[in-house]
Amino acid sequence: MPKIWTIKSQEEIKKTVFDALEKNINYDKEGALGVPASYLDDKVFNQDASFLKEAPFMYALVKNPNHIGCHTLGKSEPFFEGTHAIEKELIEICAVDILKGNYGEQDGYVASGGTEANIQAIWVYRNYYKRKFSAKQEEIAIVCSEDSHYSMDKAANLLSLGIYKIAVEEETRAISAAAVEETLQKAKSEGKKYFIVICNMMTTMFGSVDNVEVLTSSLEKLSCEFKLHVDGAYGGFYYPFTNEDSLLTFQNPAITSFTLDAHKMAQSPYGTGIFLIRKGFIENVNTQEASYVEGEDFTLIGSRSGANAIAVWMILSKNGPYGWHEKIFILQKRADWLCKQLEELKVAYYRNPMSNIITIRAHFLNHDIAQKFGLIPDNHLNPGWFKVVIMDHVSIEKLALFIDGLKELVSSK
Ligand SMILES: *Cc1c(COP(=O)(O)O)cnc(C)c1O
Repeated sequence: MPKIWTIKSQEEIKKTVFDALEKNINYDKEGALGVPASYLDDKVFNQDASFLKEAPFMYALVKNPNHIGCHTLGKSEPFFEGTHAIEKELIEICAVDILKGNYGEQDGYVASGGTEANIQAIWVYRNYYKRKFSAKQEEIAIVCSEDSHYSMDKAANLLSLGIYKIAVEEETRAISAAAVEETLQKAKSEGKKYFIVICNMMTTMFGSVDNVEVLTSSLEKLSCEFKLHVDGAYGGFYYPFTNEDSLLTFQNPAITSFTLDAHKMAQSPYGTGIFLIRKGFIENVNTQEASYVEGEDFTLIGSRSGANAIAVWMILSKNGPYGWHEKIFILQKRADWLCKQLEELKVAYYRNPMSNIITIRAHFLNHDIAQKFGLIPDNHLNPGWFKVVIMDHVSIEKLALFIDGLKELVSSK
């Protein structure tokens, strides 16, 4: 049973958002002389347009609250405390009701995206190793599968860390204990002692989910010091709803943090990555020099729009937890339908049964059909696979047209 996440009517949502904005700073009154912030330029964005009264998200955009910093610990800018409270509730919904954490035991914030949230996690652990173990930069390494998102490579580059990729099995996209151990041995032989390990909860290209027990048992077997981050940028609003017995939750003590992206499966505006971490870790990236920000800054980004957090909170509140299950259930049914058709046509594909990404072997397709149906290749220069992603707009009617095209292609071959 969800603890915080409840379904809300449009009226309740409106009231919550308008009340929160009311508690924020009012630039039209005195007492706002020193804040380097204001509402959107009212020559372009009319503050009093009548439709705004019915449009809480648009109204939040126009009021332009700044959510700089992290609002789950310490102090925050008092000017925007009304809408900070909405973000705080959103973080609790994700940490407690989606990822089974205990109430009040996680920190988090709405990041610019999955890339930032992943970099934030790796930054936290790099500093944690330096502080707690006096680790040298060259002793710390990122370990992730070769199907991981390229944000891991960005993080390695930015934070000057080594990165080691675990080979995946070509057909199943799975990491084996042997492959994990081989990767760890190589890193150790190159002087790495502290590991920042990424576990994928649905990869971008395949929707594959790394077996977390394979990772942790290999790390323990080789006596590796590690911190484990789950990249659920794609799968965060999907997989926890298809796999009730998932080990990728805060109930798993081996896991310290998660990335979820609301702007992927939750259909929210861009700028809604969600970073979640157990309490006691985010302090490793506190920038005390952020002295003009009340409560200092524990995030990578700096200023960010409060409207983004409000949008995600509105989406989750409008659907409610049971509505979300139904939404995912429908996408699963469509994915099942497509897989059945592909099997009848004997077209080879990969799909994790709990995911909505279906990745087809490129040699069953050609450029024209991939182009016509907007399929995405793993590699634009030399495609080995093309993926179909079952989103809200990807109806069976549209999939059926693709299957018709595929039938023609198969019979002409
Ligand atoms: C999309 C994605 C990211 C990056 O997210 P952005 O929001 O584009 O920065 C990271 N990891 C995975 C698995 C993704 O699918």
